[in-house]
Amino acid sequence: MDFELSNRQKQIRMAAREFAEGELLPIGKECEEKGDYPREIIKKAAQLGFIGVFFKKEYGGLGLGSLEHAIILEEFWRAEPGLAQVLSQTVFGTDMLLLYGSEEQKKKYLPPIAKGAWVSGFAITEPEAGSDTASASTLAEKVGEEYVINGSKVMISNGTVAHFILVYCLTHPEENSKTKRHSILLVETDRPGYKADRIHGKMGIRAADTANIFFNNVRVPKENLVGTEGNGFLQLMKFLDHSRAIIGAQAVGLSQGAFEQAVQYTKRRKQFGRTIASFQATQFKIAEMATLIETARTLTYKACWAIDRGHPDTQLSAMAKWWSAQVAIRVVDEALQLHGGYGYLDDYPIERYYRAAKILEIYEGTKEIQKLAIGRRVLGTP
Ligand SMILES: Cc1cc2nc3c(=O)[nH]c(=O)nc-3n(C[C@H](O)[C@H](O)[C@H](O)COP(=O)(O)OP(=O)(O)OC[C@H]3O[C@@H](n4cnc5c(N)ncnc54)[C@H](O)[C@@H]3O)c2cc1C
Repeated sequence: MDFELSNRQKQIRMAAREFAEGELLPIGKECEEKGDYPREIIKKAAQLGFIGVFFKKEYGGLGLGSLEHAIILEEFWRAEPGLAQVLSQTVFGTDMLLLYGSEEQKKKYLPPIAKGAWVSGFAITEPEAGSDTASASTLAEKVGEEYVINGSKVMISNGTVAHFILVYCLTHPEENSKTKRHSILLVETDRPGYKADRIHGKMGIRAADTANIFFNNVRVPKENLVGTEGNGFLQLMKFLDHSRAIIGAQAVGLSQGAFEQAVQYTKRRKQFGRTIASFQATQFKIAEMATLIETARTLTYKACWAIDRGHPDTQLSAMAKWWSAQVAIRVVDEALQLHGGYGYLDDYPIERYYRAAKILEIYEGTKEIQKLAIGRRVLGTP
């Protein structure tokens, strides 16, 4: 593997950093406090080409890969995790369309996302089906040329703001195999019977929209099937191989931002007549943080690199997500600790990073589920 980024990738990083520091940083604290969903920032990011970089040019993107997407999100998360999450989830689910959507679906639904005019969502989790996705019970019955959807999903990113949501539905309840019962349907959120209630009171990333959503006889035409009937579970697993590597990048960015704040603070803050950076205990902490971040970044880039070469690797993507999230939590904890009592106050951004970090171990599969995926791959068990 070539660990040197190309000149283009370095330029993308610098452009993403400039945008993040200029546009996200100044408004991050206020958006987090008010829970404001900042539509304008999505449009600005899209104008600069940061949304959907991995879409092919004919679908409005830049035709770049997962690694470039990762580099951009890494910079956003470094500068301001809450707003970075808003921008990250703007394209959530589009990998499923790219992998399994028809040409018509890609041409219709992807360009408005790349322009920043629309945002997407992907609804899998249900009140009684979280980690156990194969037990999801939101029912989609085929009636003539349509599917009629009934059920509910919980904690869905962009539930109240998305223009369309991909919905993981039960279409074949009679199937014996739990992995052949589901299908993915694209639901435009202006269809009668769709309802979304925004969730308030999240621990962190409060500007990002998260909602419980309800389907009451929502009718979609059969053309809204994404991929193959009954293949939803397997499609979901392939999708996660792509999206989990990207969570790795979010975690690396958050870690890097927290780390840099800790470095700056320890060089400034004096106790016992000297900077706290001059204590060996501090240097050990900084050394551990720097090393952990390098391991997470290398693993994440390797997982993205596998995707970009057309060989997404379940084990690598799960490792990138699990390990990078672990690193983020350890790094942000030490970074806050190095701020002492000030770290606990919202005068410094580090407490926002601390609250944001935990989600990285939960969504798109908890850390336990990532370890199951890794362990089973290593042991060769189904
Ligand atoms: C801010 C936010 C945004 C989200 N966005 C989305 C979204 O856009 N779309 C979506 O579909 N979902 C979304 N989710 C939901 C998220 O993906 C789920 O919360 C997550 O998958 C875990 O499911 P659960 O909460 O039901 O936990 P559970 O599955 O009930 O798990 C509870 C605990 O049990 C453990 N556990 C469960 N099964 C096992 C096992 N077999 N072995 C060992 N341990 C196990 C888990 O690891 C966890 O620690 C979001 C959640 C949040 C908080």
